[in-house]
Amino acid sequence: KASVLLEGDQMIANGNVDVGKVQPSHQLDKLREERKTLPIYSFRERLLQDVEKNQVLIIVGETGSGKTTQIPQYLHEAGYTKGGKKIGCTQPRRIAAMSVAARVSQEMGAKLGHAVGYSIRFEDCTSEKTVLKYMTDGMLLREFLVEPDLASYSVVMVDEAHERTLSTDVLLGLLKDIARYRPDLKLIISSATLDAEKFSDFFDSAKILRIPGRRYPVDIHYMEAPQADYLDAAVVAALQVHVTQPPGDILVFLTGQEEIETAEEILKHRTRGLGTKISELIICPIYANLPTELQAKIFEPTPEGARKVVLATNIAETSLTIDGIKYVIDPGFSKMKSYNPRSGMESLQVTPISKASSMQRAGRAGRTGHGKCFRLYTSYNYDSDLDDTTVPEVQRTNLANVVLTLKSLGIHDLVNFEFMDPPPCEALLKALELLFALGALNKVGELTKVGRRMAEFPVDPMLSKMIVASDKYTCSDEVISIAAMLSTGSSIFYRPKDKQVHADTARLRFHSGNVGDHIALLKVYNAWKEANYSTQWCYENYIQVRSMKRARDIRDQLERLLERVEIKLSSSNDLEAIKKAVTSGFFPHCARLQKNGSYRTIKHPHTAHIHPSSGIMALEHHVLPRCVLYHELVLTTKEYMRQVTEIKPEWLVEIAPHYYQLNGVVEEDYSTSKKMPRGKGRTSTSKQIPSLVDYSICV
Ligand code: ADP
Ligand code: MG
Repeated sequence: KASVLLEGDQMIANGNVDVGKVQPSHQLDKLREERKTLPIYSFRERLLQDVEKNQVLIIVGETGSGKTTQIPQYLHEAGYTKGGKKIGCTQPRRIAAMSVAARVSQEMGAKLGHAVGYSIRFEDCTSEKTVLKYMTDGMLLREFLVEPDLASYSVVMVDEAHERTLSTDVLLGLLKDIARYRPDLKLIISSATLDAEKFSDFFDSAKILRIPGRRYPVDIHYMEAPQADYLDAAVVAALQVHVTQPPGDILVFLTGQEEIETAEEILKHRTRGLGTKISELIICPIYANLPTELQAKIFEPTPEGARKVVLATNIAETSLTIDGIKYVIDPGFSKMKSYNPRSGMESLQVTPISKASSMQRAGRAGRTGHGKCFRLYTSYNYDSDLDDTTVPEVQRTNLANVVLTLKSLGIHDLVNFEFMDPPPCEALLKALELLFALGALNKVGELTKVGRRMAEFPVDPMLSKMIVASDKYTCSDEVISIAAMLSTGSSIFYRPKDKQVHADTARLRFHSGNVGDHIALLKVYNAWKEANYSTQWCYENYIQVRSMKRARDIRDQLERLLERVEIKLSSSNDLEAIKKAVTSGFFPHCARLQKNGSYRTIKHPHTAHIHPSSGIMALEHHVLPRCVLYHELVLTTKEYMRQVTEIKPEWLVEIAPHYYQLNGVVEEDYSTSKKMPRGKGRTSTSKQIPSLVDYSICV
């Protein structure tokens, strides 16, 4: 056994593996010893044999057994990367891809981005030398567009397959397909849960290898009564554990960045109040947008006498293993996407988790010894309110992006595409309908030139349509800045509690002229650029530095992609033209003011409000615009539209005449012919009748 491992070790010693930032040799030795203690180590030979004998292998093993970090290394050591081939390993979450790649490159004594790298949306940390590539499942999906047979890969490992993200599910279908004509390609599907049979069945009874994990018993404690405020309950529980329980770190599951930051604040405040009465509590947040330099902190060993409390999203359920956790606090919620295929409305909501998830969460407490899990709900809630498993994402999301990708790959027959669990027919139709409306597909469902261009951009179809349309309005320069600012995934404006008034005043400057949120984002970007991308400028203007840096990275990539689709970078200071380009992508997201001050979406009537964070609401004597376009809907206490811009109703008829008709005209045309009326008097009627009606389109 050891001899095979030695090969790999020797490679490190001989410097065959790229050694950039070299680990001190005693640290490498330590890491090497640690690798041998992982449960998967004793299965190394079996695993390599199974991979050799089978094209597809399903691997099931407890979180922390070493699947993600070790399997690609074993395969590399066994020669699967000879001849310049790569081993790819997909992760549903980008932070997992980054963190695991960092760990593996450390173990291999190589600099991150050389032999071991990662690729996530808008960030490629790989080079020609990269042989072990960790990436998000979505990125591998995009690689199919450039390399449909994945010829540069010898092995693809679909990790965390149990998460059943949309991209993972589509990947499984595509991989199954290419495996037929690439007999040399090895597929490994790995999962932390026991539903291996389902994956095995999907891959024509593929072999299953089970890696028994070490798992100590975990005592589960329930609440006696339901909790009104789970965030507060979680903080109280963490403090109680800290004060009353023997040593061991705490892991608290929360639903997102905002919640984690709030919990961090309360915890800091309350521990400060207790002063030296308690031992040190080290607070470690972890969520998708946590800056890289802070990510390593959660893995640092806890100093003697102190206790670590990790505040994590779902990411710590199975994607990341943090050693030393003994106590888990589980409020029982996560943020989930939900989608109504009938209305096409998508929103992110805090939702109860499944029984399977709560078991995974509890399991995190029993990795190194006897643990405890505190569930902040009652055992009655558990039995009667939680579903057994989480519904796969493919069945609860907007499919427009995936359909566009599949169409670009030449897969036309979507109904017969091999999904492990098929999406609802309605959702597929809705996606086709939207892509048709955006001009990405023609009437028979084939990809158009516009669609081909749109597919090049790794963003949702409405955004990519807006970018492609900017060519016509000669403002691609401005529109990619807006697109980048909308894609950072975190808030641009900084509003600290003690300086809200200052922050709001600073913000209003970007809204002068009541330009709407999209143009305000553009103004922020341009002003920052003017200030030489200065950090100081961000502080002075209450702008989040990190979000801006990310926006710049995204913008750079979008600019390169413009070139690829042969759109010239063109600039315009005509705000109306820029807004029209935005409307060209987002016309399905428009709403009209109602008498009672709320809005009603035009296409599928639905009540919504302008989010209080919108610049439109910030002006002191604001007048609600008659017709608006929004970027997204979020459901909190109410249904809110976020990133809102006023538009003129006439634009809708000008830009999307197949989607919006003027009152009166449509009835006539629609009753005489089911086809879309074209051209007929559009410019003249647009001035006559101001209100718009819904108009169904055919696919
Ligand atoms: P699995 O994929 O089976 O859940 P992993 O390969 O992720 O297991 O983890 C194996 C071991 O490597 C764990 O003990 C974990 O603590 C450690 N590990 C993984 N990632 C990191 C990291 N970024 N920093 C430090 N240790 C890590
Ligand atoms: Mg893993």
